Amino acid sequence: MTETRETTSVAIVGAGVAGLTLGNLLLRNGIDCIVLEKHPRAYVEQRQRAGTIDTFGVRMFRKWGLEEVLAGEPIPHSEGGFYIDGEAMPIDVDDNDNDNESLYCPQQVLVRNLTELFLRDGGDLRHEAADVSLEDVTGDRPLVRYRDADGTAKIIYCDFIAGCDGFRGVSRRTVPASALTEYSHEYGYNWLSVLAAVPTKPSGMAIHSLGLAGMIPRGPRTSRIYLQCSVTDTPEQWPDERIWDELQARFGTPVTSGEILDKRIVPLRSVVFDPMSYGKLYLLGDAAHIVPPMSAKGIHLALHDTEVFARAVIRQVKEGDPRLLDSYSETCLPHIWNYQAFATWITDIMHNAGFTGGEGEFRKQVARAELQRQFTSDAANKLFSELTAGTN
Ligand SMILES: Cc1cc2nc3c(=O)[nH]c(=O)nc-3n(C[C@H](O)[C@H](O)[C@H](O)COP(=O)(O)OP(=O)(O)OC[C@H]3O[C@@H](n4cnc5c(N)ncnc54)[C@H](O)[C@@H]3O)c2cc1C
Repeated sequence: MTETRETTSVAIVGAGVAGLTLGNLLLRNGIDCIVLEKHPRAYVEQRQRAGTIDTFGVRMFRKWGLEEVLAGEPIPHSEGGFYIDGEAMPIDVDDNDNDNESLYCPQQVLVRNLTELFLRDGGDLRHEAADVSLEDVTGDRPLVRYRDADGTAKIIYCDFIAGCDGFRGVSRRTVPASALTEYSHEYGYNWLSVLAAVPTKPSGMAIHSLGLAGMIPRGPRTSRIYLQCSVTDTPEQWPDERIWDELQARFGTPVTSGEILDKRIVPLRSVVFDPMSYGKLYLLGDAAHIVPPMSAKGIHLALHDTEVFARAVIRQVKEGDPRLLDSYSETCLPHIWNYQAFATWITDIMHNAGFTGGEGEFRKQVARAELQRQFTSDAANKLFSELTAGTN
């Protein structure tokens, strides 16, 4: 069977946040790229995850002239708050804080906007790319093989491969285990993540002896609910009635029940792979690291990697200077570890506080003290308002 052969400068695997942002940054700077995505466009554009872009992300898109990708379906503002054992904690959020530019923009809206912009600018984006495999990544001319939506075998020769295909993608698996160190931490509990057709009331996060609960708006009549659960729990162990009962108990305030649209278990873990490159293959976003959703910093890290990598490729292609590419991993990793430190801290504070699998009442009092201390610090206050808006 004959194979179609093409060439490009950067082959991008995965059309999520990192892959599409990278495609747009390269295209705007006159660098050839092809983006391959295994799922159909409709699926990728409806996949619900994060709800907020933090200040770094907003400024990054603006700096590169891409801020139109942040326009989207408005989500009603709701007064988010913290609760401990059913008692609302007073929060003094500064509405005039000009340093906080985070905004509601559901991940699926961001992906849809990035896709539209890339295609409008003439970008080459191929959905339903099956059996993607990477070859000769340590050679001069790496290649990507795949089958297109019609089943035709294709080969793309390129200068660089950007592995933006998430935690379970093919890119990282191409790197021999001996060339990669995995650092990982399991938190010892999971989240039941629920999408429900109800207005968000109450809104915020609740620390309770039964475990953490959260309720965050995802639309005028849609809410994301999460409930800390055991690592052995399955969605079947959480019938709808149990979800509403637990939510009410953990917030300590009445909750209006409604239709449950989706429920799934989300593992809470932190993972970092080091280094983030191998030959001409570079790993970006979730392909290289995972932060627990409690930190709401997955998008931030994906965008940070993308900006570092885009600058490095532009410098290489336009000036023949490989130094930024050579130091890609060393540039990204300290930033990632900083955010892992924050993610571990906030995840521990918000969970494990009286939950029977945790350390009990002592931890709950520590959590109360930590939260109160944060509300009296400007920097931490900003962090918390981004956090409570962003957690999915
Ligand atoms: C339930 C959940 C809730 C979350 N909540 C938040 C939150 O509140 N705030 C936050 O900041 N982050 C959150 N995150 C994390 C955030 O969604 C990710 O960090 C972010 O999507 C990473 O972007 P990415 O581009 O690296 O990966 P992804 O967005 O996962 O994109 C990877 C893309 O690669 C494609 N792909 C995979 N394998 C292949 C292949 N073999 N060939 C071609 N394409 C492939 C995938 O289909 C996907 O489109 C959440 C994640 C989950 C799962």
